[in-house]
Amino acid sequence: MTKDIQPIFILPEGATRITGKDAQRNNIMAAKLVAETVRTTLGPKGMDKMLVDSLGDVVITNDGVTILDEMNIEHPSAKMIVEIAKTQEDEVGDGTTTAVVIAGELLKNAEDLLDQKLHPTVIAKGYQMAAEKAQQILNQISASVDKTNLNILKNIATTAMTGKGAEMNKVKLADLTTEAVLQVADADGNIDSDNIKIEKKVGESAEASTLIRGILLDKEKVHGAMPKKVENAKILLLDCPIEIKETETDAKIQISDPMQMQAFLEQEEKMLKKLVDDVIKTGANVVFCQKGIDDLAQHYLAKAGIFAARRVKKSDMEKLAKASGGSILSTLEATSEKDLGNAGVVREEKVGDEYMTYIENCQNPKAVTLLVRGGTEHVIEEVKRAVDDAVGDLIASLKNGKVVGGAGAPEIEVAKELKKYAESLSGREQLAVLKFAEAMEIIPKTLAENGGLDPIDIMTELKALHDKGEKWAGVNVFTGKAMDSFTEGIIEPLKIKTQAIKSASEVAIMILRIDDVIAGGGSKPGPGPEMPPGMMPGMGPGM
Ligand code: ADP
Ligand code: MG
Repeated sequence: MTKDIQPIFILPEGATRITGKDAQRNNIMAAKLVAETVRTTLGPKGMDKMLVDSLGDVVITNDGVTILDEMNIEHPSAKMIVEIAKTQEDEVGDGTTTAVVIAGELLKNAEDLLDQKLHPTVIAKGYQMAAEKAQQILNQISASVDKTNLNILKNIATTAMTGKGAEMNKVKLADLTTEAVLQVADADGNIDSDNIKIEKKVGESAEASTLIRGILLDKEKVHGAMPKKVENAKILLLDCPIEIKETETDAKIQISDPMQMQAFLEQEEKMLKKLVDDVIKTGANVVFCQKGIDDLAQHYLAKAGIFAARRVKKSDMEKLAKASGGSILSTLEATSEKDLGNAGVVREEKVGDEYMTYIENCQNPKAVTLLVRGGTEHVIEEVKRAVDDAVGDLIASLKNGKVVGGAGAPEIEVAKELKKYAESLSGREQLAVLKFAEAMEIIPKTLAENGGLDPIDIMTELKALHDKGEKWAGVNVFTGKAMDSFTEGIIEPLKIKTQAIKSASEVAIMILRIDDVIAGGGSKPGPGPEMPPGMMPGMGPGM
């Protein structure tokens, strides 16, 4: 008998569940929306987005990962797309929009396959095969690069900055960035982007940006009587204070007569004098201290003609060590001149409306500073993001030693070769590989669309050129014609492309395999009537 069967609840109250096709469609839709949002920013003619947060702060950017980050996306599978951008940013530092746009297109095409009743696992298998093949194809077409190919390196930097806030000064900035990256490369060719300090200062224009062969510190000297400038600087780096240790807060010193007080102060003075004498003995004429420097010690240091700054950030201390070749010391005992760092000059200068300290003309600095200038805070932020992208691309190119032409050329080449590969396959995966190939073409198509061109015309032309063996034929968004991207200097690291395809396909496959979205009480799995945050009943500020 069934009439008395009670419904069985396995989920808590308030939980929601979407299953089967609905779950798939819902997830694909959300992912496509994310891709659609950043698509218009792709390429040299991509537009910018203005993002306003809840406090009214404004960010104007063209950078995929920044846009997605600021959007505070909530939908779970849309969030997975945002993760692609973050992975791309961590692994390469550029190509975030590309990765997201490809993921969106892979899912859009998967929808067509679902409509044709292809099972999601078959699509996933085909996509997997295509993604692996795409890596091979890209490797085969790539060209080699090393630190001697200055022109290619500068082109990589310029390409990275094209269409960003740095556009107008990209040649100058590309020169500076290339020089910076080559300078901090160590003997084994390892390059750590942490060793390139990017310092922003509002004022002048991006053209006034400079590379400092050393470090620029957001610090001024501690005492007015210290020299403003020290040539042939011998730099002592200390991570201990130049102070007498404070007595425990609750310890009291009982002083019964003025003589005792006097003796106590004299004792303290002696100890400080001794500390400063120890500093002088090292032969240093510049001191950077991570901790405090006592007022009296400042006075003695100034008297000795020593330049000193205090409370320098730990990260800056490490960069100072790398730039000057000195060691960071925790004690003054047994310190010799070989522990000191060197710099051609250490000087204090007003930049914008603040005093800063330049430690520059270092011999062979393994840490350098790019001082980025720009008219306003918003401009300078976007210039910095562009420079960050260029640094990331240069490092990725040098590490991997492989580059490709840009402007949509590698994507067309991959599509072409994948279509050939599909022909060699039997079974239904073939359809998925073909759709994967078509998805690659979204990059040149979008570049063309964003440039106001007719994507169909240019794609026909480009495909014909690729069939003739012109592997770097890409979209010239300025003339609307085809061009050889490599000879035109539009060059990108191979890693941008391989990583973008890898993470885009991984996430597309992951989303495709989901057929059940279960959300515990409190969160909702899909678009639905949602209350804006802060307007939930019972969530007033008093709670
Ligand atoms: P992403 O976040 O993916 O790096 P971008 O907005 O930086 O997005 O655009 C990158 C795309 O623009 C790449 O496909 C690149 O080849 C292309 N591109 C860059 N410079 C040019 C150019 N001068 N002409 C045509 N395409 C270009
Ligand atoms: Mg880019």
